[in-house]
Amino acid sequence: MLNPFQISQAQIDEAAERLGLPDDVHQLVREPMREVHVRIPVKMDDGTIRIFTGFRVQHNWARGPAKGGIRFHPEETVDTVRALATWMTLKTAVVDLPLGGGKGGVICDPRALSAGELERLSRGYMRAIASVIGPEFDVPAPDVYTNPQIMAWMMDEYETIVQRRVPGIITGKPIDLGGSYGREDATARGAMFTIREAAKAIGIDLSSATAAIQGYGNAGAFAHHLVTTMFGTRVVAVSDSKGGVYHPDGLDFNKLHRHKEKTGSVVGFPGAKPITNEKLLEASVDILMPSALEGVLTQQNAGKVRAKMVAELANGPTTPEADKIFHKNGIFVIPDILCNAGGVTVSYFEQVQNASNDRWTTEYVHERLDGVMTNAFRDVFGMAAKEGVHMRLAAQMVAVSRIAAACIARGWVTGSVTKAPKSNGTSRASAKPKGRSPKRKARAGR
Ligand code: GLU
Repeated sequence: MLNPFQISQAQIDEAAERLGLPDDVHQLVREPMREVHVRIPVKMDDGTIRIFTGFRVQHNWARGPAKGGIRFHPEETVDTVRALATWMTLKTAVVDLPLGGGKGGVICDPRALSAGELERLSRGYMRAIASVIGPEFDVPAPDVYTNPQIMAWMMDEYETIVQRRVPGIITGKPIDLGGSYGREDATARGAMFTIREAAKAIGIDLSSATAAIQGYGNAGAFAHHLVTTMFGTRVVAVSDSKGGVYHPDGLDFNKLHRHKEKTGSVVGFPGAKPITNEKLLEASVDILMPSALEGVLTQQNAGKVRAKMVAELANGPTTPEADKIFHKNGIFVIPDILCNAGGVTVSYFEQVQNASNDRWTTEYVHERLDGVMTNAFRDVFGMAAKEGVHMRLAAQMVAVSRIAAACIARGWVTGSVTKAPKSNGTSRASAKPKGRSPKRKARAGR
């Protein structure tokens, strides 16, 4: 089984081959441009010192400053961070933001740390990476098990080091410290816009559809709320790391949210039946939203997935073997680098607001997010139809062609890109998607 970094490289190889990319640019894009490994001594509450290990990987900055979150996770590895940094470069390119990609990670279990220990670790990590980041070079953000409070500590630490106010050093900050309205639910909201477009394209009526959500963190919980309120879709199953719950009539978001706040898990929600994470993935629903970690949809379970659409709110939830099975079975996948790009898009809005010392309204953030996500969906859907490929490969092709074009324009490498999507700079949010449905095409090939 390939590790996540090898998977991300295999994905770039496939896109590069399809695009007929020159070898030098292909070789450049398949490796991170820079990575930093740090050791972080932290004084624990009992007076002892513990040394944590962290990483910051800057995959590519041809299109703009590297951008991407910081994960605090006990199973973090440098290869996972490399993969996630690679996916960030692809993600910012697929939604056409003037950014590159990076990712950070610290090996730790934040749930086992006190608030004081977490603050000292967050500040220590920032001290360790401060010299390699900056608002014009690499801008971190939240990711798995990090949040606005952690961003606030990190920003404060950075500003203490450089003795200036630099709100643009990090995004996903609290509103009071220059965070953007609409950042908190941005990943889920962005996914909703892609789900709306996909449903139109493949003919699913969202108001009578059902959904299952695997993972109930920032992305999954907001997805539950938004898919219900925006479309009237019934969420019949949700799960978190402790287990899941199921109800055929749908799970009430507010009640479930309160239950999770009180007990720490969705498990045991009154009136619902228990369901395992494995069974949830195989539930008979229209939309499956993997919203936790990478590698959950595999060769072993992909054949049992009954959803019509898989919307990847998590990064890397589907292995390449599972992808092939979905394609063969005519399941429409909204790939992670497109589906969950709403988070980094509103992070970018936050950067723009910080750079101009401005504040946008929530409505304006939502409207612009809709435009970015809808255009990106159209670009990918159009590429899939034109090249006769599935949505993930199409998204990779759109992204890699844009990254390659930037590397070539800088003179880093030679050659040209012939299959780039045609962007004309206009907002096409209200335009109709062009081309044949890639799903229908997949079916025709069976
Ligand atoms: N962690 C999010 C992601 O994986 C957001 C990154 C950002 O806002 O820079 O896309």
